[in-house]
Amino acid sequence: MKIEIQGLNKIYPNGNQALKDINLEFGTGMFGLLGPNGAGKSSLMRIIVTLMKPTSGVVLVDGKDIQKMRKKLRSMLGYLPQDFRFFTSLKTWEFLDYSGSLAGMKNRKERLAEVDRLLDQVGLLEARDRQANKLSGGMKRRLGIAQALIGNPRIIVVDEPTTGLDPDERIRFRNILSQLSQHDVTIILSTHIVGDISSTCQGMALLNKGELVFSGSPENLVKHAEGHVFKLNLTPYEYEMIKEKYNIISTIPVDNGWEVQVVSDDIPEFNSTPISPNIEHAYVYYMEQKMHADIIE
Ligand code: ADP
Repeated sequence: MKIEIQGLNKIYPNGNQALKDINLEFGTGMFGLLGPNGAGKSSLMRIIVTLMKPTSGVVLVDGKDIQKMRKKLRSMLGYLPQDFRFFTSLKTWEFLDYSGSLAGMKNRKERLAEVDRLLDQVGLLEARDRQANKLSGGMKRRLGIAQALIGNPRIIVVDEPTTGLDPDERIRFRNILSQLSQHDVTIILSTHIVGDISSTCQGMALLNKGELVFSGSPENLVKHAEGHVFKLNLTPYEYEMIKEKYNIISTIPVDNGWEVQVVSDDIPEFNSTPISPNIEHAYVYYMEQKMHADIIE
């Protein structure tokens, strides 16, 4: 499934511009949308799932404007919103069964089989008879993904799924998504946590204040930071001198001072060694560089 986003703008009635001329294109597999809070990720996702109209611009799915195929789109869409809530009194399996009905699964026997298959897939089979709203945070999120998956959607939109989860649950959630991305589906995952974007994302975009600042593969993002990440060994005095000047990513205490990692356009003063960037370095570098570019403009 090919998704094309063309010239997308969103201005809310109060004048907030959440999206500024966004152009993006991606196909099957996992696509990661990364950006700090307020970047415009949820706005973009709500437009993609047709819960909200853009102010201008279009989203095309296999060449068709989603606004002209809303019903069809919704039948092939699974969505896990950021503030996903459950109906209070339903058991876990009942909730999923209900979601399956909403997704158009009419055959009860097939639906029940699918409910148990999905509960197993997300590791909730043992909790099937528990009340959904009494599950732990991580379990709720997994039930949320099961709810987005029922009915065999071709496009799955997941908004900030790992916020508030502990590391174990985050990894578990990521694994569920990456297993899915091996099938013929398009998954759009939004997050403000760099670690959620992994090599399992074929493509990714970086949003900041409504603007698209990068799109491409995670490897390409990392390439941008090559030659711009350094390790420095500093005395406490030297540390004080540079701490305002450079963008410090990490600080580790060592004998006689600090070992710090910085991102920088120029080779820093003092004794510095270049190191290979990871995606976190690249994210910091990219956001900073873009900020400088904006100032120069
Ligand atoms: P993110 O999901 O990346 O945190 P959002 O899409 O939620 O970003 O928000 C982008 C911007 O739009 C923010 O400045 C936010 O305050 C604003 N915004 C979001 N929803 C509304 C709304 N309903 N009315 C007015 N402004 C909004």
